[in-house]
Amino acid sequence: MSLILSSTYASGLPDLVSAVAVTPFAEPKLLAFSADTAALLQLPTAFFSQTDAADYLSGKQLFAGSIPVAQKYAGHQFGHYNPELGDGRGLLLGDIQGRDGLRYDLHLKGAGRTPYSRFGDGRAVLRSSIREFLASEAMHHLGIPTSRALSLVGSTEPVQRETIEQGAMVIRVCPSHIRFGHFEHCFYTGDKNQLQRLVDFTVQQHFPDCLNAANPALAMLQQVVVRTAELISQWQAVGFNHGVMNTDNMSILGLSFDYGPYAFLDDYQPGYICNHSDHSGRYAFDEQPGIGLWNLNALAHALSPLIEVEDLRSALGLYEPTLVNHYMTLMGKKLGLSTQQPTDRALIGQWLALLQQQKQDYSLSFRRLADFTNDATGSSVRDHMLDVAAFDQWAELYRARLALEPASAVERKSQMDSINPLYVLRNYLAQQVITAAEQGDTAPLHELMQVLQSPYQLQAGKEAFAAPPPDWGKGMDISCSS
Ligand code: AMP
Ligand code: MG
Ligand code: MG
Repeated sequence: MSLILSSTYASGLPDLVSAVAVTPFAEPKLLAFSADTAALLQLPTAFFSQTDAADYLSGKQLFAGSIPVAQKYAGHQFGHYNPELGDGRGLLLGDIQGRDGLRYDLHLKGAGRTPYSRFGDGRAVLRSSIREFLASEAMHHLGIPTSRALSLVGSTEPVQRETIEQGAMVIRVCPSHIRFGHFEHCFYTGDKNQLQRLVDFTVQQHFPDCLNAANPALAMLQQVVVRTAELISQWQAVGFNHGVMNTDNMSILGLSFDYGPYAFLDDYQPGYICNHSDHSGRYAFDEQPGIGLWNLNALAHALSPLIEVEDLRSALGLYEPTLVNHYMTLMGKKLGLSTQQPTDRALIGQWLALLQQQKQDYSLSFRRLADFTNDATGSSVRDHMLDVAAFDQWAELYRARLALEPASAVERKSQMDSINPLYVLRNYLAQQVITAAEQGDTAPLHELMQVLQSPYQLQAGKEAFAAPPPDWGKGMDISCSS
């Protein structure tokens, strides 16, 4: 039992790939898989019990029809254009139709050197592979568009980073691995025909409703702008800091993509920088909305041979209103507001200022606020405030605002609990399962994954997973060398 793959990307755009053989591990070992992603691909879970499952999931044995290729792309890294990029340590194995009728790419990350590896070894370490695996599944279950992960395979292969670590591979699954940087590559090499073919392919495969537009490239760009704005509004609402928003890490489908030194906020610090190599804070949490637009500008520039400048401008103009509207709607819901009032923006802003000044946990504060009642004491959120008077002042405004809502306190709590996660993938939680896995114990990884599959639902006996970080786990430095 296995999968039968096609090569839709490689056969559609042969001059944008290089065929590369996987450099397999000597002793691959299956450490985890997502039953949910397997079901999406119609791969029976019995497959994972086969003795050769780890061989397939690490490219030692190829799925039927698989022709591994490295994709060529470029991109702006920390604001600087780099023409030398491409899949440096991951290979596209092929694609397959999912149970929802869409086609899904399977990408094997950590598969060895490629023509785009530059100085890298083509490998990924266990630590970063666990982080990618967990984040993909956590984001999906939060309801945020993301690439998925099928499997995590470990090895005995030593990989040199700051210290010697263990090599691992993840199979990443999403409808397309096309990044903004793919278009930039075609633009900066000046090959307008190739750019046109890339756009035609992308529209046909992934934006079929744009095919009949007067200018399909423009219609696609408009959709990418809207999807990216919506995605980033979701990141801001849930408290997710991506950390490396280079244009080669931006999915053309508006998915959260390429998980590196990301973080979910613990204490609410709007200027939080999760990537310890990001010295200027370019990719700080509160910079993400602006960086999204910067990146879309880079994409628009790359599409400029195919779209009039006025049209580029108007497409980019969709970004800010989409992001602000979407964000305000989400934040209103997080506060239990089902209608919109002119004062909501100020109410939300003052709530966030309160969380920041009083060093409150971002996710837990919303969760606690859900038991806010109309009596004077308010809610358990009040007990955690350092300056109760400041909270009471805000609570008066909130109480008045809730009076305009049709829902009862009970209804409001259930609505708020359905949008404010109790369990988020905090870095300290990830670190605990990484430490155990590095010592050969994957039980904590499986348990965390299970918890993250129902982030909004109180799970008996899982209190520890909802706890804010202990002191050692606050503001963890996550290395970019992964
Ligand atoms: P990232 O920071 O993960 O988005 O990677 C940026 C670029 O570096 C991409 O072209 C990657 O394929 C490449 N890269 C990252 N790590 C390695 C590695 N260990 N070996 C080869 N290439 C790598
Ligand atoms: Mg990348
Ligand atoms: Mg990466």
